[in-house]
Amino acid sequence: MVITFLGAMHEVTGSITLVEAAGKKFIVDFGMEQGVDMFVNHDIPVSPPELDFVLLTHAHVDHSGKLPLLVKEGFSGPIYSTKATCDLCKLMLLDCAHIQESEAEYESRKNKRSNKPPVEPLYDSNDVEKTMSLFVPLPYETSFSPADGIVVSFTDIGHLLGSAAISVTMTENDITKKMVFSGDVGNINQPILRDPSHIAETDYLMIESTYGDRLHDQNPTGHVEALASMIQRTFDRGGNVIIPSFAVGRTQEILYFIREIKGREMVHGHDNFRVVVDSPLAAEATRIFQNCDTDYLDDAARDLIEMGINPLLFEGLELSITGDDSKNLNTDPEPKVIISASGMCDAGRIRHHLKHNLWRPESLICFVGYQAEGTLGRRLFDGEKTVKIFNEEITVKAEIALLPGTSGHADRNGLVNWLLGFTKKPEIVFVNHGDDSVCMSFASYLKENYGYRVSDPFSGTTFDLATGTFINITTGKPVKQKFSIEQAGNEFRLLVRAVSDLSEAIRNHANLSNKEFRFIRNQIEKLIKRISS
Ligand SMILES: [Zn+2]
Ligand SMILES: [Zn+2]
Repeated sequence: MVITFLGAMHEVTGSITLVEAAGKKFIVDFGMEQGVDMFVNHDIPVSPPELDFVLLTHAHVDHSGKLPLLVKEGFSGPIYSTKATCDLCKLMLLDCAHIQESEAEYESRKNKRSNKPPVEPLYDSNDVEKTMSLFVPLPYETSFSPADGIVVSFTDIGHLLGSAAISVTMTENDITKKMVFSGDVGNINQPILRDPSHIAETDYLMIESTYGDRLHDQNPTGHVEALASMIQRTFDRGGNVIIPSFAVGRTQEILYFIREIKGREMVHGHDNFRVVVDSPLAAEATRIFQNCDTDYLDDAARDLIEMGINPLLFEGLELSITGDDSKNLNTDPEPKVIISASGMCDAGRIRHHLKHNLWRPESLICFVGYQAEGTLGRRLFDGEKTVKIFNEEITVKAEIALLPGTSGHADRNGLVNWLLGFTKKPEIVFVNHGDDSVCMSFASYLKENYGYRVSDPFSGTTFDLATGTFINITTGKPVKQKFSIEQAGNEFRLLVRAVSDLSEAIRNHANLSNKEFRFIRNQIEKLIKRISS
């Protein structure tokens, strides 16, 4: 009864865990790595055809994105997930395949010119189709047995439509052990989704730690009022409200708010204003949210449905948008709300809408999510006055606004509260799915403040679930050799942790005087100079 930690160890993306129990081999999540890659992941020590089944926590690509590759390489067993995860995966994996295909096509064209062989995409839409045929949708809180000696159940974890924590009970040689995989733990009080449900008990737990070192704003309320006021003032001056948004999750949250704005008649003088979702992926995802089983929704959304109101449907909403319709939006003078992808403005149709609205002082660009360093979204958000879109210099005159989003992930308190829901302490809590320093700091927080036995293993570590002992402990192998965490050893790690503590101490002491802030800032700037010189 052995577990091998493979992906999202001391990293946020690329979740993969292998379990060998009761004579079977299965994996929990098979995600794609995104963004900066810190540590080398060990390969799965089992060939894909040898795997018996897959358990999938939710549809996000960092948990599901490599499943078509597994199928391409010969896996043909069932993939168990909730129905909503299955529906969303179809969209998200197809989208991924299209990105892989067009990137490979681009590289191949380049290679052809220099007489090099063409590039194969990681996988294509045919692989996605085969993958989708393997999905077996299952309801929440219903035990099922994928193989003799293994019982599995899904619990709503409130992170994305259909997201689940997965409980696996395994019996081998008369020893029974239970392990819970948290997947991504949702935030509380999010629109549409329920708060994470608790699980009574488990022997072992694997918990994510994305925001394990910080606390979200306590009660971010007033979204509906803030958005209504943005729409009102923009429409009054004849402009458009442009919302760059992630296609799945955030877009539906915005539609949920706009339905309320329309329902409460909060915008005056612009009856039945148009709301256009100009992203095929976002439109498809919205249809899944509109038609999903009420099991996936929170009480407020269910109450609406009971009153005969679809929480994501209202007059003026347009979901079917062709490329031509999209272009026509730019010549139509009637003020409207346009929600489009990508969320950080670095690709997709949103760039057309920005090109046609950024120069107009009457329009408003409303950011609803995190804008990463280096993206067009971040530059606009930071107040840049001219930007280049499609090689054209555009002067920024539109109003730039922020609708603070509710995060999809629990913060440190949220994670701890979910953990405290287990009636007795798990024998070991394994921490994953967090940046290196966050993962370590959350692990020691649990140890020091709550007395848990905690482990934050690196990729390749193996653990015997039956005896509760480690078989093999690996150290992280950094991807970039520029700085080696291995070589720098403990001192480097302590330094990284101290930096994370410093940032938290600052956040927790916002009441210091300006003089003290200035002093601290000077000291930090001196340190930065010393490190970079
Ligand atoms: Zn996720
Ligand atoms: Zn994730």
